[in-house]
Amino acid sequence: MTRFAWGDATDTGRVRSANEDAVLAVDGLFAVADGMGGHRGGEVASGVAVSTLRSAFTAAGTDVLVQAVQEANHAVVAQAGADHGLEGMGTTLCAMALVDSGGSDAIAVVNVGDSRLYLLSEGELTQITEDHSLVATMERQGRLTRAEAAVHPQRNILTRALGIDKAVMVDSWEIVPIVGDRYLICSDGLFNEVDDNRLAATLRRLADPGEAARELIRLANESGGRDNITCIIVDVVDDSGRDPAAAPGVTRVSPVVALTPSGESVAARAVGGDASVDGEPRRRRRRGGDRPHSRFTWRVALFVVAFVAIIGAAVGAVYWTGTSTYYVTFDGQQVAIYQGKPGGVLWISPELVEVTPLSADQVPAAARLDIQVGREQPTLAEAQRYVENLLDQFAMSTTTTTTRPATTTTASTLPVDPAALAPAATDPGAVDPGAPVAPVFTP
Ligand code: MG
Repeated sequence: MTRFAWGDATDTGRVRSANEDAVLAVDGLFAVADGMGGHRGGEVASGVAVSTLRSAFTAAGTDVLVQAVQEANHAVVAQAGADHGLEGMGTTLCAMALVDSGGSDAIAVVNVGDSRLYLLSEGELTQITEDHSLVATMERQGRLTRAEAAVHPQRNILTRALGIDKAVMVDSWEIVPIVGDRYLICSDGLFNEVDDNRLAATLRRLADPGEAARELIRLANESGGRDNITCIIVDVVDDSGRDPAAAPGVTRVSPVVALTPSGESVAARAVGGDASVDGEPRRRRRRGGDRPHSRFTWRVALFVVAFVAIIGAAVGAVYWTGTSTYYVTFDGQQVAIYQGKPGGVLWISPELVEVTPLSADQVPAAARLDIQVGREQPTLAEAQRYVENLLDQFAMSTTTTTTRPATTTTASTLPVDPAALAPAATDPGAVDPGAPVAPVFTP
């Protein structure tokens, strides 16, 4: 059985005249709400939010907690609509609760707005929630550093809050509870005055959660106290012997849930609390039903399959182009047939298929340049036929050039039978290349 020890504190600060923060700390359910809205609106909004959350959290489930936040939103919207003096009010809400997750204890965390939940584990402080504010959006987009965001003049402009719209998107997480872990839930009046290093140092230094909470309030006031300050510190004092080291790979913190019918609300916590819209893109999260503990969804799987198919098709096309044809070229002193494209295609080099009997010096001059750059042929058979043609041409040229001068010379100088030489002397082109040449030279 998971058990907690906790302490909480809230303070108006040194500038504001009223405390519009609200805090809820009962066994197993902890929440901070930071209200906004002129007159008494902020105070009412945060109060309605935490009281509705408490009454609506009727079972130990993350879905139930998310639904309770939705009901808190409806309650704030309804109250603002019913009382003209409360028009435009809204509130943040950040909460954690002990829930059952598949038969094991888990800490469910929900958040709307810019109140925060931190986890101090093994001395290291981590902000679990994401702020729904203009500066946090700019920080996520890389347009501001964390240090710049902390002092930005528009850091109080929210992009999500309860009470603005009938539908609100709720971020949620599940965390494995481990003995020794310490949680801090707080409003912006704390972290705008006390930076993360000082928060962590105080949480590490003071063992008693109540004493640590009061010290954080003191530090915020010491730094200026320009806003209401609220914090809850929750220690995990029993985790039923769960040991994260015994189960390597277990995800300690898992984002879960939350998709509303129409997306997130937008609000401005400027003085007067008028709602305004900024350009933060809607982030769609998974429904709570299946509670995936991994970000690998079917959409990602589909994308991976499509990507692999496209890459495969591209590789196949290159391979086909690089290997489907042949060409004839010189290979040293011989003419050879290669498979592929002259010079290769990307990573595919041409492959030697055969070295032909045609030598380089037997290639007719007219074909020499073609073969030099690689004479392409669609098939191996056609490449072989091309080489055979060149061999034939060479054979013909050899016969012709040897016969013609021999015939002419013989006819003018040797005393042979003119009848035997008649065809060659009168029509050299009609000489049969296959006919024996040697007898003509017989002295
Ligand atoms: Mg505040």
